[in-house]
Amino acid sequence: MMSEIICHECKRELDIKYSSSIAAVCEQCGTVNRKNPQPADYLIKFGIPEEDYSPIQVGTEGQYGGNKFEVTGRFRYDFKEAFRNQWSIAFSDGTRMWMLESYGYYAIVKNEDLKIPADKFKNVQPSNRFDFDNNEWTVETCYRNYGYKGEGELHEWIPTPVSHVQVETSSGDDEVIFTNILSSNTSFYYHGKYFEFDQLKFKNFRTGQSWN
Ligand SMILES: [Zn+2]
Repeated sequence: MMSEIICHECKRELDIKYSSSIAAVCEQCGTVNRKNPQPADYLIKFGIPEEDYSPIQVGTEGQYGGNKFEVTGRFRYDFKEAFRNQWSIAFSDGTRMWMLESYGYYAIVKNEDLKIPADKFKNVQPSNRFDFDNNEWTVETCYRNYGYKGEGELHEWIPTPVSHVQVETSSGDDEVIFTNILSSNTSFYYHGKYFEFDQLKFKNFRTGQSWN
């Protein structure tokens, strides 16, 4: 059922389509608003994403594991020389996941408490390898986030502080873990698999018309 919240910053009314969403980004001022703010919450102003030529948009539909999903929103990491979209997706059975997108590859992931020992990421660099959970992992990318942009509805809170390093590691079978190193003893882990564009059977993706 559709609900509504008022932007804390500019007082615009924001529609919330999915009851499983916990926050919405104001399309007018870029402030991210929690549906049920706690007294201690501070407001984060994301800013609105500029054109990044992603084929995905809020409202894009896809399929994963036989289930249909809809893209509800995103936050975008602004790294120094790259960006990465983290799209919030809602499945028809009510579950929520994230779809990470970067330069034409996709990963469907879930936030999991993996507890990878922090020393695995000491002096971390692309092509480093380490063992974890009976697998060998290779570091693919390693970027420092400088800011967030965003839009639409999100189902989990964003990793903070804003300034932190995200490490992408892969293993066999297209398995991937994105580790957001938030402090010396706190990390967020997004665990899942890589996919090609065609595998996700997107509909309502952005077409060339909106790129003109
Ligand atoms: Zn606003």
